[in-house]
Amino acid sequence: MNTATSHDLFTRALDLMPGGVNSPVRAFKSVGGEPFFAKRAEGAYLIDVDGNRYVDYIGSWGPMIAGHAHPAVLEAVSRTMVDGLSFGVPNALEVTMAETVRKLVPSMEMMRMVNSGTEATLSAIRLARGATGRTGIVKFEGCYHGHGDSFLVKAGSGALTFGLPNSPGVPKALADLTLTLPYNDFEAATKLFDEVGGEIAGVIVEPIVGNANCILPREGYLQHLRALCTKHGAVLIFDEVMTGFRVALGGAQARYGVTPDLSTFGKIIGGGMPVGAYGGRKELMQQIAPAGPIYQAGTLSGNPVAMAAGLATLGLVQAPGFHEKLEANTHVLCDGLEAAAREAGVAVTTTRTCGMFGLYFTDRAVETFEDAMASDAAAFKRFFHAMLKRGVYFAPSAFEAGFLSSAHGEAELQHTFEAAREAFREIA
Ligand code: PLP
Repeated sequence: MNTATSHDLFTRALDLMPGGVNSPVRAFKSVGGEPFFAKRAEGAYLIDVDGNRYVDYIGSWGPMIAGHAHPAVLEAVSRTMVDGLSFGVPNALEVTMAETVRKLVPSMEMMRMVNSGTEATLSAIRLARGATGRTGIVKFEGCYHGHGDSFLVKAGSGALTFGLPNSPGVPKALADLTLTLPYNDFEAATKLFDEVGGEIAGVIVEPIVGNANCILPREGYLQHLRALCTKHGAVLIFDEVMTGFRVALGGAQARYGVTPDLSTFGKIIGGGMPVGAYGGRKELMQQIAPAGPIYQAGTLSGNPVAMAAGLATLGLVQAPGFHEKLEANTHVLCDGLEAAAREAGVAVTTTRTCGMFGLYFTDRAVETFEDAMASDAAAFKRFFHAMLKRGVYFAPSAFEAGFLSSAHGEAELQHTFEAAREAFREIA
């Protein structure tokens, strides 16, 4: 595989950007080797600057649920951009976006658009603190909510990948206000609330933990968190940046039938453009400026071109049967990967939901962060490269979920299975 142009770009980038990248996991540091540079993407494929094609199981880390460069999304962007890129005054697409989101996720009674998932989660916890007058925030080990100071405590995703779950630079006084719990442990949550429930402003949780690969909630766990928050007057925040519009049209809250007080979104809501959103109960959101005293703002928030890309993508996921097909394909993929691993005698466990999966190099069932950490990272690293050279791109980290799009069909799945059979044999 010729990667000369990527190599040249990476050499130049290393001198210009930390690790040569604008977001850490892209650097391939934990899997070794050098990243490839994308030239373009179409459907289920990424094409690099040297002309190599990869079946892409990252989808830009989630947004590309309808596949790359979908004509409907590109058309919406082209149509909108000719009228101007940013106005700094309200535009009609922001209203259509809010109406669409509320139709799909009824708990989003009111909302605010922002420019990233990080901005959404930062704003949500400020609101939880402002509304309750309390300071404590509860998060879960291995969950990632963006790079805000309060979240870089036992964080997942890139922070976990690089062994930096507690980042230097976060003041201890602030980190001390973030209380952490093991995900899926009922008793630990009850105990914490019994001890300090009156100090907890909010609980933020990835309802499905996509940043420690993919850990699904145990039966009744999200309901348990709901009940604890209600009892102790804390704000329950579902971080649906990954799961929103993916695991069901109405997100994880619809899938599991639990209504949070606030939710955060990103990725799919922007269709590949920089967008995030937070929102929820009206009486909480009415406390955001200028309706209320809690401040949050953004020069480019509600950007018309970004709204157009997001709305086009939300239009595509509303097609009849979209999620049913995506979920069926996710099962086919995970069953096929498990079968290929079994054939080669490699211990592999998968977890899966609609359009999102985890691949763990362990024979134990994965239900907790501890289970996820039992995955053999060295085996993953070998598998990652064995797949990459066969034109299949999984996340360059043992702790990131994989994503499927509606563009992944029979041809891509069969290519993946052939590659996986060889790759597992190679690493066995
Ligand atoms: N929340 C979750 C669950 C995420 O997965 C991410 C990013 O991967 C974020 C928040 C942060 O979003 P962004 O990278 O857009 O700031």
